[in-house]
Amino acid sequence: MCLALAVSASASADTIVLKNGRRIVAENVIDDGARVTYQTPAGQLTIPKSIVERIEHDDFVYSPASSASSQPLVSAPKVEPVRGYEDVVTRAVHDDAVDYSYIAQLETEARSGTTIAVAKVAAAHHAAAQFLVSKGDTDAAIQQYRQALVFAPQNVGLLLNLAVLYLRESQFTGALDPLDRARRAAPDSADVAKLTGWAYYGANKIDQAIAEWQRAERLRPDPEVEQALEKAERDKSEEESYREGETIHFDLKYYGGAAPDLARGILRVLEDDFRDLESQLDYTPPEKIAVILYTEQAFADITRAPGWVGALNDGRLLIPVQGLTTVTPELAHVLKHELTHSFVGQKSHNRAPTWLQEGVAQWMEGRRSAADAGALINAAGQGMAPPLGAMGGSWMGLSGNSAAFAYAWSLAVVESIIDAGGVSDISRLLDRIATESSVEDALRETLHLSYDDLNQQTVAYLKRIYLR
Ligand SMILES: [Zn+2]
Repeated sequence: MCLALAVSASASADTIVLKNGRRIVAENVIDDGARVTYQTPAGQLTIPKSIVERIEHDDFVYSPASSASSQPLVSAPKVEPVRGYEDVVTRAVHDDAVDYSYIAQLETEARSGTTIAVAKVAAAHHAAAQFLVSKGDTDAAIQQYRQALVFAPQNVGLLLNLAVLYLRESQFTGALDPLDRARRAAPDSADVAKLTGWAYYGANKIDQAIAEWQRAERLRPDPEVEQALEKAERDKSEEESYREGETIHFDLKYYGGAAPDLARGILRVLEDDFRDLESQLDYTPPEKIAVILYTEQAFADITRAPGWVGALNDGRLLIPVQGLTTVTPELAHVLKHELTHSFVGQKSHNRAPTWLQEGVAQWMEGRRSAADAGALINAAGQGMAPPLGAMGGSWMGLSGNSAAFAYAWSLAVVESIIDAGGVSDISRLLDRIATESSVEDALRETLHLSYDDLNQQTVAYLKRIYLR
């Protein structure tokens, strides 16, 4: 199925080069001085200009994850409303123009209601409509059929031709009205079923499209309808897996080649994670959380580009799943980590400092400081423990080594808090940060610690637990 957010295949792409070296290929890149906004298959994203090194304008074509085909699946049947009125046809359209006065004269005669007079009006309007279609004036052609139907409301040929014009204009709901009337006049018409299937398919009502095309096949087998039916059934199974992309807490979208099985697996894991975080952090996000599975780009917490996920998140989980078909242990870690960011962000009214965000997210995903403890203790011993007050904002300016150190230190800090007072201390701290004017005030109010105290507590914790 075409997704509403799929981007146009014809636009050229730009490359946003970040200061940390990452390159993002995107469409419609807009630089307003403070922020850079761009289009991806997941929609519009915004990043701070401060993390952007430069924007390169390329000429190659950005290929979208999915694209819509504008070709209808079935063709329009040729149906003459009436036969045997060639003289009327040649008089209604001549010298490359519609003879409206002749048609008006026929209408006057048809008001008497004789069958022949009505048939002549139908033939004349049909001829005029077909001529107008050949001139590209579909709206005027539609008017011709509507006028003819005033005199011959049951004429299936007029109704079908009118429906075809609506269908070609993608006015699928508009097409259903003449098709309903045609069905009442001709209940066993395969053409009515074929076109009604087209209308429903176009309106994205796949179940009804399938029912109509099945009916058309029963009435009159048609290879074209058979193919359309197969396509619709494929779409339906795709759409079913897409619909399963909604659960009580999540709204999942996936693009490109992400497998339906993978999407379902991810949702199962996320629902489990949600319940766990809900009880650990004593918080329930009020709205469904949007999850977007990417197959095109890799994101922050896989590459460890600091701050990047927060900048992209917008409350949505952007999960790279390139090449995956099942939820691997690594992916499970990423899911828990990203979902934790959503909880921490919302519970703290998006005021949690980065060290707390990343520390809690790593702790929840199951990371512990064992492997890093020695290096962290050494660094602290040389007076290099990072000042937490300076680690609240974006980590984008940090080099790779500094970023790795910032992640590791943040995890150790969070471990020490949980060691001292349990996860409930994290929960209380987040609640206080949501309302307190500064993070350090919130820290003092809840844990009775300054930033320096917290760093000292962290070193003591690392030594006690990991140094034997
Ligand atoms: Zn993170």
